[in-house]
Amino acid sequence: MNASDIKQLFSALAERFEKEKEQLGDLDAVLGDGDHGVSMANGFSKANEAVKESDVEDVGQLFQNAGRALMSGIGGASGPLFAMVLIELGKANLGQTELALEGFREGVTNAAASVQRLGKAERGDKTMLDVLLPVSEALQSADSLEGGLEQAARVSENAAEKTADLAAKKGRAQYVKDAGLGHPDPGATSLSLLFDTFYQVYKSEANT
Ligand code: ADP
Ligand code: MG
Repeated sequence: MNASDIKQLFSALAERFEKEKEQLGDLDAVLGDGDHGVSMANGFSKANEAVKESDVEDVGQLFQNAGRALMSGIGGASGPLFAMVLIELGKANLGQTELALEGFREGVTNAAASVQRLGKAERGDKTMLDVLLPVSEALQSADSLEGGLEQAARVSENAAEKTADLAAKKGRAQYVKDAGLGHPDPGATSLSLLFDTFYQVYKSEANT
């Protein structure tokens, strides 16, 4: 995926989060304050604005620019954490004009470590980390970018669904009834939408 494909990715992400805004907001209304859908839609709209007119060819730089823009567009607990995912993907791909499996894998792995360091959540706390950690593990055995993106999409969807079985220990959800048992975590769901969109855009670009 080159710079033009990555711009296509951010355009698709802005569209996807705008479309899922209500559903994500409803999930967050059960577990938290209900702002997650609006936050993600605003954040990815800003990220898309930041890269769409850019003439940067470096895919790492594009992810970093998107991450910084997203940081300013999302408030709350998840803003800096989602920005961190994009910034780590950027860092791992700096100087590259094509996204490759190695950069994607390194970016996701470092993102999981940074989110854990920043948010101090553990596996099983019912957060976006419950998607990021299994995806990073699955990527260690991927052998192509297409295979890695496909795995990330599939593993993240399952992992996000499974957060419904977890009781929250971090974030606002820990204070609601049964700590949110029976409801998937909104941040985990958002991350699975991100990986799914990534794979969809890859497939559509590969066929053009
Ligand atoms: P806020 O909780 O400030 O309203 P959002 O509603 O935008 O922020 O995002 C909530 C999501 O953020 C949660 O569903 C969870 O996935 C993620 N999150 C919250 N706290 C943490 C944390 N400490 N570590 C990792 N992820 C977290
Ligand atoms: Mg919220």
